[in-house]
Parts: sequence; structure tokens; C-alpha cells
Amino acid sequence: MDLAEWRAECQALGVPVYRAGQIWHGLQDRMIGSWDELTILPAALRRALAEKFDVAALTVAEVREAADGVRKLLLACRDGELIESVLIPAKDRWTLCVSSQAGCAFGCAFCASGKAGLARNLVAGEIVGQVVLAAKWLRENGSADVAAGLLRPQNIVVMGMGEPFANYDEVLKALHILNAPDGLNIGARHITISTCGVVQGIRRLAEEGVQFELSVSLHAPSDALRTRLMPVNQRWPLVRLLEACRDYTEATNRIITFEYTLVRGVNDQPEHAQRLIELLRGWKCRVNLIPLSPVAEFAGEAPDERTCEAFCDALESARISTTLRRSRGGQTNAACGQLRLRRRGKVISQ
Ligand code: SAH
Repeated sequence: MDLAEWRAECQALGVPVYRAGQIWHGLQDRMIGSWDELTILPAALRRALAEKFDVAALTVAEVREAADGVRKLLLACRDGELIESVLIPAKDRWTLCVSSQAGCAFGCAFCASGKAGLARNLVAGEIVGQVVLAAKWLRENGSADVAAGLLRPQNIVVMGMGEPFANYDEVLKALHILNAPDGLNIGARHITISTCGVVQGIRRLAEEGVQFELSVSLHAPSDALRTRLMPVNQRWPLVRLLEACRDYTEATNRIITFEYTLVRGVNDQPEHAQRLIELLRGWKCRVNLIPLSPVAEFAGEAPDERTCEAFCDALESARISTTLRRSRGGQTNAACGQLRLRRRGKVISQ
């Protein structure tokens, strides 16, 4: 709940509205694990809150650390659903990758999140809760780290499990809570939503007047290939997707980042780069190339470094601003949805 909703709740409970600020502070800054920890509140109010609101809606089921400092958190929801968040360190900051759904309905060929289908949408509290739990985990475990002193995530990317625009309202609500100046205060430009190409979501976001960053997963420069990799392309083919992206850029004046996962021999050849250039030439946008993170469920591999660099160079020489990202956290099953799938596999086979 946001602060306004807590105020309304206090009124409904018949307690002074300043209690809302204390509750908000307890949840966002002190990161209480139970209402009893919030001793500033009268015991009767704590009891009333405990009856109605679950502060421990998520618990940490497992943490895996990779050699490159990436921490993958497997979190359990109250109903037993498992979701994943990934903490990614850089020199002076932490990025947290959060999930927007348990599972995913979109079934991209190379993505582990979609392999078991969609279980359910997450509620805003479960999305904000991932950030609070990660910050709490960093406070307790991360002191000697790369980002020492900065013991909470500074960047949020909604690139974990699920399709954020298939859960639009709860995701936007969560991002507004994370962005609130009197809360976690994560800057809008440090918050990125990534979509597989849900056109209606792109169009809705364009109308919001918010400063969040938008990434669009493209992965292929032709309809035939994109449909093979991403079934969503049947519903919203490239012309419609790119039209929505252009309208978004025009309406918001914001730059879209196109994600392009490179798969050896599938979409990494010079002719693919050429087609991509034709699609994007002269447009203010960015391309982020990501070599495939191998997953057992997909028989594809990452291209070698030279191929990745050649692809990157081709785009750059056409003046398309491009970054080539090394995949991280590989040893921890850090590709989307992998840890959850492993865990489910274990549970099912037991
Ligand atoms: N549903 C959203 C956000 C989650 S996926 C979306 O599709 O954008 C975040 C990004 O990781 C997407 O670009 C997705 O295509 C990519 N991805 C998924 N599995 C991957 C893998 N095995 N290797 C590399 N990138 C992958």
C-alpha cells in the first residue's frame, strides 16, 4: 500500500493519521519482519494490523552466490509459489532484478521462466517486498562487498520472471511505491521495465507521464524468426510493435532500449545485423546485445566473442548506440526462472 492508502486505513481503524507515517517508515526503512517489531505503535494497533496485513509475505528460501558477485535470491510466497530476484553488483551500486509474475505465459523459446507456464500475477506488495528483502539481506550480509556502504539496491530492473505488462496495474503501483520520495526513493530513471512486446502496455505507459525507463525484447529482425523465438510476435508482429515504440518515443521523448539476445547461428549473422539496422536506422534508441545464457530447456548456445563483437560493430557503424553485455551469474542458474524450475523439478521428483 502507498502512504495515501495507509492514511485511509488509519482512518478506517480509528487511529490518528500520523500513524500512517510511522507504519510506512517501519515497512520501508526499518524493514520490519513482524508488526511486533514496530514498538512505536500501541499494542492494540499492532494486533489490529497483524490481523489484517501480512508483513512477511515473502521469505528467503535460498541464496546462491556466483563468483562474479551476483546473488540470486529464491523467495517463497505465502501460498508456496517461488519467485526469483537477482542482485547484481557494480563498482558503486547494486541493481536488483525483480519478478513481476510467478511463472510466465509468453513462452519465449530460450527463457526458463515460461517453461512451466504462468502460476499467477504478483501483487504490488510482493514486488516491493522483493526490494525490501534484498535490501535487508544486503544489510545483514553485504557489508564487505563491492558496493560497501551502499547497502540497498539503487537500480531496479523488472526483468526477472514474468511479463510486467501482463500485470500492469500491480507493477506500476509497486514502482510508484519504490519511487516515492518519502519511501525507498529509488529514482524513476533508475527503474526499468522490460517487455516482450505487449503493445497495449507500451501504449498505456506512454500515457502515464512517468520517467521510468522502457526496454523492449526484440531478439530478431524479421517476423518469421521472431515468431520462432517469441510466440508473442504472432499477436503483435514487428510492424505493430515498432509503431508502438515510435509513438512511445514521440509522446515521451524518452529513449527505448531494445534487448537482443544473441543465439549462435540463429540470429547472430551479418544479415541479421543488417536487417536490424534497416529497422532502427535514424531512430533515437539503444540496442543492448546479450549473449544467450544457456538453459537446459533450449538447445541453443551463445555465439563466440568475435561474432558478438562483429554484430555490435555493425550496429555501431550504422550509428546505432549499442552495448554488448556479458552475461552474469551463469554458474548460479541465474537466467530467468532457472532456479525456480530446478526447485520445482526437485519438488516434483521427490
Ligand atoms: N518478460 C519481459 C521481462 C523478463 S525477461 C521481457 O521479455 O522483456 C528479461 C530479458 O531476459 C528479456 O529480454 C528476455 O528475452 C531475456 N532472456 C530470457 N532468457 C534468456 C536467456 N536464456 N539468455 C539471455 N537472455 C534471456
